[in-house]
Parts: sequence; structure tokens; C-alpha cells
Amino acid sequence: MYFLTYLYKGQENYGILNKEKDRVIPLGGIFKGKTLNDFICTFNDSMLENIHGLMKSSNLNSIPLTEVKLLAPIPYPKRSLFCLGKNYLDHAKEVVGLPGADDNIPKFPIYFSKIGNPAIGHLDMIKNHREITEMIDYEVELAVILGKDGINIREEDAEEYIFGYTIVNDISARNLQRKHNQWFKGKSLETFCPMGPYIVHKSQIPFPVELNIKCSVNGEIRQDSNTKNMIFNIPHIISDLSKGMELKAGDIIITGTPSGVGLGFSPFKFLNSKDKVECHIEKIGTLTNFIE
Ligand code: MG
Repeated sequence: MYFLTYLYKGQENYGILNKEKDRVIPLGGIFKGKTLNDFICTFNDSMLENIHGLMKSSNLNSIPLTEVKLLAPIPYPKRSLFCLGKNYLDHAKEVVGLPGADDNIPKFPIYFSKIGNPAIGHLDMIKNHREITEMIDYEVELAVILGKDGINIREEDAEEYIFGYTIVNDISARNLQRKHNQWFKGKSLETFCPMGPYIVHKSQIPFPVELNIKCSVNGEIRQDSNTKNMIFNIPHIISDLSKGMELKAGDIIITGTPSGVGLGFSPFKFLNSKDKVECHIEKIGTLTNFIE
């Protein structure tokens, strides 16, 4: 099941793709909740059956996918995104020795947060912020969307707390990251949180999550890995992060990026005006954005 938030005839709504993935079945009005985020917070297994029923029904008011404008599936997250730093070994190694980098391979998860409110959607433009940076970088990441509140979650119970998965491009202004000696500001500029195109329900993704993950710039593949290469896997992250801290339904955890970021090349390969960035994760889709 592929959940989406979209604009159709000027109205924002959320829905689900049909089986052929060429039409949108609107869900707003059928279920409680004005947004996909509200829907996720009230979601339960009986609703899952209703949705299966809706997808089979032939007389639906569905809309061709080509007629809607995709928005970020959660355009206004209630809290900042929880982010993992250096969570793929090859990426942790590629930044060793770079100015401002801490050269240690993490022994414990590195957490930071990123403002993703508003998040931008598929095909939206990333602002270049030229007055403050010329070092804009991409980072394809698997995003985990939580579906249930929880504190002190055990690793073996982690999947129960997940609603589904999407893609986030953790856009970063590297000079700001260095200047401020932490990552929050350089990753939280306006339009720096492309998300989507869909949230895929966890029932579609076998656990543990082992998905090919890629990023290309103007068709040139820069990042190419698999989510099984994370240093700290999803159950560990959810369990560790929730120790003494309640996680909430609708929270978004972005799980780190593999090697091949612009900062990892010599000379650097940062993003330029008009560049097309495509983030792809198997079974989820492709999130495409353009640089202003
Ligand atoms: Mg990142």
C-alpha cells in the first residue's frame, strides 16, 4: 500500500494508490483525520482491511495519478526529524580527514535533528541559498515513519511501532555544518527536506529491511548501496532512541546515508543550479528534485 498526500484542483488531500499504481483513491473524508499524519496516528488493523476492500471496489472516485501534484507525504511533521549521522561504514570512512569531520567510526548511534516543516515533495525545487552557501550536498536516506507511541521499546518489538517507510533527501549545506560545529542549522534551511514520493506500508517491506538505495545527479550514479549495510539497524535505532524518551506516532527517523555524497569526492561534487537529483529506494520509488 502506497500512501500519498497530493493536490487536486487546488485541494490538499491524502490517499492511496490503486493496485496498478496509476490512480489515486482519496481517503480524506472516508477515515477520521484531515491529513495523512492524523490518519497514521489513528491507524489500526481493522482500517487495513477497509483499505484492502476499497482497493478492490470498482466504483471508486479515483483520480488518474497524472492529474495530481504530489506533496511530501507528511508535509508538516509535528516534530523535527530524528536523524542518524555516519550510519553506513563506507560513508563514515569517506569523510575521514575532511576539515570539520570527527574521524571516529561511531561505536554508538549519532543522533541529531533536522527541521522538516514544511517538507517538500517529488519534483519540487530545492532553493540554492547562494547568499550563505555554495556547498549544497545530497544524502539519500531511508525514512522510518512510526505508527505508535512508545518508550523503552525492545529491539524485538520495534517493527510493531513502525507504520511504513519513505525516502528523505537529507540536503545539507556543508559550510554551515562545519561553521556551527554541529549539524542542525546546515540541514534545516528552507526546502532542505525533500520527502516522498510515497509512504509504503510496512506490510509491503520484509523485515529486516534490506533495500537497494541509490542517488544520482543528472543521471550520474553517486550513491549505490543497500540498507542492510547500516552500522546500527532499524530495531537497534528504535530501541536505543526510545530509552527514556517517548517516540510518537508520526515521528520520522532518517537512518543515515551511504558513501558517495558530494563531500566525499576530490574535488568535491556539490549541487549546482538546475541539477536534477534522484533518490531511489527499491520497493518505495524515486524522489526527484531540482536545484534552483
Ligand atoms: Mg543524513
